[in-house]
Amino acid sequence: MSKILVYLPTADGKIKRSALEVLSHARVLASKNGLTLEALVVDENPSVFVETAAKYGAATVHTVQNPLFKQHLNAPLIQALESAIKTSGAKFFATPSMEATKDILGALAAKLNAGVLPDVASFDIEGDAIVALRPVMAAKVLQKVKSTGNVVLVSVRSGSYDASEAPVSGSANTLTFEPDANSIKAFLREILKTAGTGVDLSEANVVVSGGRGVKDEDGRKMLEDLAALMNGAVGASRAVTESGLFPATAQIGQTGKVVSPDLYFAVGISGAIQHVAGMSNSKVIVAINKDPDAPIFQYATYGLVGDLYKIMPILIEEIKKIKAA
Ligand SMILES: Cc1cc2nc3c(=O)[nH]c(=O)nc-3n(C[C@H](O)[C@H](O)[C@H](O)COP(=O)(O)OP(=O)(O)OC[C@H]3O[C@@H](n4cnc5c(N)ncnc54)[C@H](O)[C@@H]3O)c2cc1C
Repeated sequence: MSKILVYLPTADGKIKRSALEVLSHARVLASKNGLTLEALVVDENPSVFVETAAKYGAATVHTVQNPLFKQHLNAPLIQALESAIKTSGAKFFATPSMEATKDILGALAAKLNAGVLPDVASFDIEGDAIVALRPVMAAKVLQKVKSTGNVVLVSVRSGSYDASEAPVSGSANTLTFEPDANSIKAFLREILKTAGTGVDLSEANVVVSGGRGVKDEDGRKMLEDLAALMNGAVGASRAVTESGLFPATAQIGQTGKVVSPDLYFAVGISGAIQHVAGMSNSKVIVAINKDPDAPIFQYATYGLVGDLYKIMPILIEEIKKIKAA
């Protein structure tokens, strides 16, 4: 029976939400196509994640343990994934699409002589192939792609599927792994957190983003207050990361991050296609803009036409009242 192996990246003591989304979809595909579903955790202490993986349907969770995996390091991670895919005998390998997996997927495919479909918005299994839809040209076009081979790798954009539980009794399968010390030429010494709410943009359920309509520090502070109230993260358009009002790491869009929260606030953002490419997968979009013809309203679930400096304080007060009630 063919096997689908889902890699579950971890951070801050949790499996990434986007990984649980991929696992949930892989579970559906495994059941539909008669495949065996297995998961893989590579971490300095992977056994603590087995219970969560089983909650989302993975009965067998391969674990690779090494202190090196406290931080993301390309070289040993590629070696660990290559070894785990070979040992498990998986035909299909699925992972969330994130900075860390973008870094390694090409090298992993080359080592395995595998087919690879990176950064897809949806995927299915047809016989021995993966077929997928992949946003290209700033997400203006969805390209249908297909890959066959002894092994096929696919990485999936966050927010493409819901993470849904389907508990099974899970057990860990500890894989023996010795990294090739000579191949590790770079170490990650420190991750510097930028200002903001501290919530990871790519994983946040709520994102409050500002554009050129946000003119100053006071405006940015309002966005940070709203984000903090909703345990969300702060994002930005390129116009205001370039001006220096928001950090470069907050940029959302074609040349920034791709986010897919449950709720996205676009505050003073016009809705240029390059920005929309990074947030159109959001479930609910609230746009605040003084121009009723701003393109962002074409994508918005709810639109508030008016001056953001008048609307934001009211919104923040009302949400505070609801939270206090
Ligand atoms: C190759 C390339 C890649 C790019 N990549 C990205 C990317 O990754 N991300 C990105 O965001 N952009 C990107 N851009 C830039 C993009 O084309 C737009 O220029 C940018 O998104 C515009 O940012 P904005 O919406 O904040 O500003 P603007 O287009 O200037 O819009 C500002 C909006 O704020 C509204 N406004 C003004 N004052 C107020 C107020 N007081 N209250 C309410 N509303 C107000 C205005 O009505 C207007 O709609 C890219 C461009 C290129 C060419």
